[in-house]
Amino acid sequence: MAKQIGRVDSRWIELSDSEENRFEKIMEGMCKVSLHDHTIVFPEDPSNYIEFAGSGEWLIGLEGLSRAGLDAVFEGLMDGIYLARSRDPWSWENIVYQLGLISWLVDKLECVFIGRSADDIIRAHDEDRLAIYIHLEGAPHMGEELELVRHLYGFGVRCMGIVYSVGNEYGSGLADEKDYGLTPLGAELVDEMNSIGIAIDLAHANDLTCLEVMEVSSKPVFITHAGARGVWPSRRMKPDKVLERLADNGGVIGIEASPHTTLSKEHPYHSIESVMDHFKYIEDLIGLDHLAFGPDTLFGDHVALHRVFRDYLSIGASRSGSPNYIEVPYVDGLENPGDFPNIIRWLIRNGYSDNEIEKIVFRNIHRVLKHTIG
Ligand SMILES: [Zn+2]
Repeated sequence: MAKQIGRVDSRWIELSDSEENRFEKIMEGMCKVSLHDHTIVFPEDPSNYIEFAGSGEWLIGLEGLSRAGLDAVFEGLMDGIYLARSRDPWSWENIVYQLGLISWLVDKLECVFIGRSADDIIRAHDEDRLAIYIHLEGAPHMGEELELVRHLYGFGVRCMGIVYSVGNEYGSGLADEKDYGLTPLGAELVDEMNSIGIAIDLAHANDLTCLEVMEVSSKPVFITHAGARGVWPSRRMKPDKVLERLADNGGVIGIEASPHTTLSKEHPYHSIESVMDHFKYIEDLIGLDHLAFGPDTLFGDHVALHRVFRDYLSIGASRSGSPNYIEVPYVDGLENPGDFPNIIRWLIRNGYSDNEIEKIVFRNIHRVLKHTIG
């Protein structure tokens, strides 16, 4: 399997001695949550990825996570590429198979547990454990059988996209040429998730779907991993009107760091600096109360994974509109879940107060969870 520590030379932000002191205090005392990551370790050799994605040989990267200092992580499983039961990653069977696997893995380990309520973040911090919030990036195909949302809740799901990149019966995804927005059935799904207590994620929804979900949702929503189209004009990024609507909704966006997504004209070689150009832009637009980080990293070669699963992940459509950029082997400074502390280092280096940092890595997410899952 891929090395969890030191696979590549991902560099951390340098700090002065007094800044290092602040960093250590924050790492020790503050609750910290990633709004979207994949904690599973991938094989070292990318040519084994397809076979791996069809297997149940999962391993949570505990060694790498020990560097992360996280109290909670929204776990994206293998959404989009898990093909054990059918060629459609969003079939009910493929989703239930993953839910069974993650529950089995977590229950075997003393140091992790499945997060089911907002305050499980604090509990994890107090108990020195990691709360894993099960997060489906898109809804499985349930047709009109929306009572199945209760089953998902029962299996531990606490955050779910209405749609992944290719549109479904509930709404249009970001890979769709025609943005048909939220369907009437999708509006029922929103109602059901609001009332059962599963937070809504709009990371992979098309623009109109995002706006229409926020119109009908009685609860704040997450955009767990994305960036600003005002910084980098690809379809995967969110336009100002969606971000402004998110602020009205009381929701939170997690800034994405998956390779070749959150690029910027100032930093076209993808690194933590390009990622932070999105953070700063969104801070200026809607303020810090709506910001978090959902780096979307994993243990293994993420660039190779995109190459192998290009079609399943709708990589081409996601990047459409994107200007030319330089291909990187990895995102320097935010390469795997163990690099999460580098976000805090960057925030310290760039003058953010402890209070502001706490909002970004904990309080904003906790607030939305209180309103949604309770
Ligand atoms: Zn995603």
